[in-house]
Amino acid sequence: RLSTSTALEELIVPPVQIAYTQNLIDGKFVDAASGKTFPTYDPRTGEVIAHVAEGDAEDVNRAVAAARKAFDEGPWPKMTPYERSRILLRFADLVEKHSDELAALETWNNGKLHEQAAKAELPLLIRLFHYYAGWADKIHGLTVPADGNHHVQTLHEPIGVAGQIIPWNFPLLMFAWKVGPALACGNTIVLKTAEQTPLTALYVAKLFHEAGLPPGVLNVVSGFGPTAGAALASHMDVDKIAFTGSTDTGKVVLELAAKSNLKPVTLELGGKSPFIVCEDADIDHAVELAHFALFFNQGQCCCAGSRTFVHERVYDEFLEKAKARALRRVVGDPFKKGVEQGPQIDSEQFEKVLRYIRSGIESNATLECGGDRLGKKGYFIQPTVFSNVTDDMLIAKDEIFGPVQSILKFKDLDEVIRRANATRYGLAAGVFTKNIDTANTLTRALRAGTVWVNCFDVFDAAIPFGGYKMSGIGREKGIYSLHNYLQIAHRAQFVIMQWN
Ligand code: NAD
Repeated sequence: RLSTSTALEELIVPPVQIAYTQNLIDGKFVDAASGKTFPTYDPRTGEVIAHVAEGDAEDVNRAVAAARKAFDEGPWPKMTPYERSRILLRFADLVEKHSDELAALETWNNGKLHEQAAKAELPLLIRLFHYYAGWADKIHGLTVPADGNHHVQTLHEPIGVAGQIIPWNFPLLMFAWKVGPALACGNTIVLKTAEQTPLTALYVAKLFHEAGLPPGVLNVVSGFGPTAGAALASHMDVDKIAFTGSTDTGKVVLELAAKSNLKPVTLELGGKSPFIVCEDADIDHAVELAHFALFFNQGQCCCAGSRTFVHERVYDEFLEKAKARALRRVVGDPFKKGVEQGPQIDSEQFEKVLRYIRSGIESNATLECGGDRLGKKGYFIQPTVFSNVTDDMLIAKDEIFGPVQSILKFKDLDEVIRRANATRYGLAAGVFTKNIDTANTLTRALRAGTVWVNCFDVFDAAIPFGGYKMSGIGREKGIYSLHNYLQIAHRAQFVIMQWN
């Protein structure tokens, strides 16, 4: 097993070249209209790895014009659904073929474990495009038995030009969740990537064109939120906006959509998900799962189990083992085998996480381990565990988005239900118990879009995902995501019956 000190020495040179840095508009890679570029970084070192075209309102205008033309004039929305399905499948095959380069690029630009990019994120992307390719030719309306002599049919039509804004924590998977259902329904797209992680979306968008996607159907603009992102959300010619990111930015996007053309909005936002360890739990197993629920992806998951509630009877044993597990966690170069945690995405997030750790200490939570940066360069943070956390502390209320586990004690089910639900978020929850009645009680009582029982972070293309309360609006994945990208129309016709 690697130790942390070994893992931080001598970083591996990423086995990939950066080929695409321009915006992809109307099937062509082009510079930003302004000619500007912005640096993108390696979070392991904070060093610049490429300069990327910096899209702003003018580039968004050009991308929307291309998407509009591709939607209004075809051939994409007029292709047979089967032809569209074939293109999605060919794309998935090309991603599979280029998996090695893509996994390396994802790790280089994001800092996530290479093993996770290669064995989780890419297979999930491929599976999702297979899933939506399967839907493309099964999207159809109904005939409706209306009163009177009326023949009524519903039409499930693509909504038009979809604007999509994605975050940096799962660049490839977020690309898939947005693009898969939108294309299966026959829409055209302008996608804005997160400014921290522009590289892999450009690469896969290029593969989509190799797979036969007509120009203008999928346009990718790199750039910042207040410029490129806001231009997309407020564009009068964008028919729908889908956003994943922070709750604060989600509110801005909703407002921009309302103030412009009232385009429908779906939002996948933040969370402060409870992970509940009941008194009957197998403690070793519970410790491992709670650790995974929080520390996976450097803690940068919207659904992270960031409030670990532990029953008072097993609290002490759980705490001791959770601390030992965090101390064993290997932090280091995410390209190295055996490393469990890479760097945080950027200096802003790194500083933010360290501020929350200081706030935990100042509010008198007990710092069990960690609590500081690791190494002298890059954005590595020690796996951190706090005990004696109470509900009123900032670390128990805010989304930290980092490797900081907060352990809280509870006495009985009623109490933990009330406290688990006492949050402005409602994205996910985890329950750990052997008792089926306890499991059933908690899964019904917890106000969250997802409740995982004796598991966590199960992401299947067919399962809907999304939040209650301020964790968002709408659902992604599964059949439910199709509704985000369809207009349901009906056509009623008066019918003259010439027989009795
Ligand atoms: P953010 O919400 O600001 O950024 C997400 C996306 O929105 C990016 O593409 C960004 O460019 C864009 N954006 C930003 N401002 C915009 C605007 N005014 N109009 C349109 N688009 C805009 O998130 P962040 O600043 O990268 O991270 C801040 C916090 O958000 C994190 O600490 C974390 O708590 C949370 N976050 C959540 C998720 C999630 O999956 N739910 C993902 C990333 C970050």
